[in-house]
Amino acid sequence: MNTNGKLIIFSAPSGAGKTTIVQHLLTKIPELEFSISATTRKPRGDEQNGKDYYFISKQEFLHRIARKQFVEFEEVYTGTFYGTLRTEIERIWQKGKTVIFDIDVEGGLHLKRKYDGDALAIFVQPPSLEVLIERLTGRGTDSAEKLKERFIKAEKELNYAPQFDIILKNHDLQTACDEAEALVRNFIAQD
Ligand code: 5GP
Repeated sequence: MNTNGKLIIFSAPSGAGKTTIVQHLLTKIPELEFSISATTRKPRGDEQNGKDYYFISKQEFLHRIARKQFVEFEEVYTGTFYGTLRTEIERIWQKGKTVIFDIDVEGGLHLKRKYDGDALAIFVQPPSLEVLIERLTGRGTDSAEKLKERFIKAEKELNYAPQFDIILKNHDLQTACDEAEALVRNFIAQD
């Protein structure tokens, strides 16, 4: 059975605050369910398999690409893959819920092109590249080399903002969360 539903896409450079906003929405709006991506990176901190990500080997990821099991996937960082499994979207739609994504910018645009009017694509914009770099550095979870790759990617990604349905400024986290909540509730309520 394929019951098509809606999708909410949150994209942004890493460190812009999108994960916090998505987690906030999940606690406030019961109609939403998080799309758990598959990734080949190792768990960070207290991340759990099957909750934050499906942590799989590169071999398994490549096998799933070959079997066309992904709606979209990206080699987000050199040698590290992330992707959305077709079964994940179907699982959530079958429960009658709206899928919410925390996904990189290219992946977000890919999904928007694919699902068009069924999808609301929101770009979370940090106050500046400097603030973004500060936030990423402050996390203290990545090596210097990984951080540098994230900075370079973030700078590039900021240019994609105009291609999204909405640009949500995250200068103040509480304000951004409130605005996101209003936008999402409104989109879910539409026919
Ligand atoms: P992190 O390693 O910080 O969890 O994620 C790195 C980047 O990959 C983030 O921008 C995150 O949103 C993105 N990402 C997570 N899941 C997916 C996915 O399924 N597809 C794509 N294209 N990007 C993803």
